[in-house]
Amino acid sequence: MAGPVKDREAFQRLSFLYQAAHCVLAQDPENQALARFYCHTEKTIAKRLVLRRDPSVKRTLCRGCSSLLVPGLTCTQRQRRGRGQRWTVQTCLTCQRSQRFLNDPKHLLWGDRPEAQLENQADPKPPQPLPNVAQPFPAHLPEQVQEVSETSGFSLQ
Ligand SMILES: [Zn+2]
Repeated sequence: MAGPVKDREAFQRLSFLYQAAHCVLAQDPENQALARFYCHTEKTIAKRLVLRRDPSVKRTLCRGCSSLLVPGLTCTQRQRRGRGQRWTVQTCLTCQRSQRFLNDPKHLLWGDRPEAQLENQADPKPPQPLPNVAQPFPAHLPEQVQEVSETSGFSLQ
């Protein structure tokens, strides 16, 4: 059942690596290889432990070469039209791989839709108290973790 948050240390490590990549790039834009190494490590850990990362993190990492995508520095961002819709196209300057995102304020990611929530599904599995998602800057993570472990302590008693 719902015990203490699993892989808490791994989430902290992911967050650290992601922030470290931002830091070294901000310090010196020449540090792109180092930032790529941090992001690649972050990606490998998340993959190995099957941890889902927040879309805001995922969208800033190149799927091809794991570069940290900073518009104007390591990637370009352009507005394009296609299929009657507007898209933001982000192209990595290291490996030229591009990703595109729909410009639709009403568009909801799958994880944000009500039917994606476990309590709205006819699923016998108990609802997860904490979404298994790494936030980019989890300043409040320890508090949330505290809350969750307290609530789960209640349910066990
Ligand atoms: Zn790339």
